[in-house]
Amino acid sequence: MDEFVCNVCQHKIAGEIVEVKEMMFGTGEAFQYGQCGNCGTIQLLNPPPDIEYYYPDEYYAFSDLSFSNPHVNWLKTLRIKLFRFFDIDFFKPVYGDWLKLLDAKVNEKITDIGCGNGQLLYELYASGFRDLTGFDPFIDMDFVINPSLRLYKRGLDDIKGPFDIIMLHHALEHMPDLAHAFRKISQLLSVGGRALVRLPVSDGEAWQIYKQHWVQLDAPRHYFIPSLKAMKLLAEANDLEIYEVVFDSSEFQFWASELYAKGLPFFDTRDKSLFPKEELLKYKRKSLQLNKEGKGDQACFYLKKK
Ligand SMILES: [Zn+2]
Repeated sequence: MDEFVCNVCQHKIAGEIVEVKEMMFGTGEAFQYGQCGNCGTIQLLNPPPDIEYYYPDEYYAFSDLSFSNPHVNWLKTLRIKLFRFFDIDFFKPVYGDWLKLLDAKVNEKITDIGCGNGQLLYELYASGFRDLTGFDPFIDMDFVINPSLRLYKRGLDDIKGPFDIIMLHHALEHMPDLAHAFRKISQLLSVGGRALVRLPVSDGEAWQIYKQHWVQLDAPRHYFIPSLKAMKLLAEANDLEIYEVVFDSSEFQFWASELYAKGLPFFDTRDKSLFPKEELLKYKRKSLQLNKEGKGDQACFYLKKK
């Protein structure tokens, strides 16, 4: 037992501390994570001063952005319109549901914070969206692809708004101060603006089953893993309202946690090939079931600025 202060609800807690090893690269170095007994947020208690060391070049080996030709872009635009406005689900792209629930319009100012190579924003461009900005402190340099699509080498604190739509796909959990990051996101949103935050959550069954071996702890790269309750507290404190939560966990929560429990890293064995096909299928079915029950290990939060 040890004492720490929760970043989200500020409660001082004498809680259970779990020792979690760095496993992605298999350095085996141990870090302490504690879970708030009040709001359920899991937080890294001893962040390393040299966090960059845990993001070696191969972590950020962004593949090149892949462009599609104008004919394909025409089809992509048609596809997203059919899906959004007529609910015709033919070859629905992964971002179809996100755009629909965000009620994104083609001329709105849209940003992806932690955009990597910018592929998602490019797909939105190809689907007809015209004001797209990506930010990522780890890309090589600024990259203005065309007047509608710009990528900037910049961290959250250096971004200037406002935006109509902000997306963070598994980026927030890598930021060292969750409450501060939430405040900043709210400031960057225009009134009536919407945000999509996708991240791991501590309510999932995988955390209960695997504890220190749960792959989404990803020590020490993940600073915070909030619960649904914590996300509500953060939203309320920042003039935001959560209007939809969709669980989108996958079989990854099982097979990768199984590897960690066996003491194996997954960075070079990520092809899942160590597991029989039937096993992977079982994990997949289980993930879909957990998502329905609200017990998947990650979720999409849709927020609106009041
Ligand atoms: Zn708390």
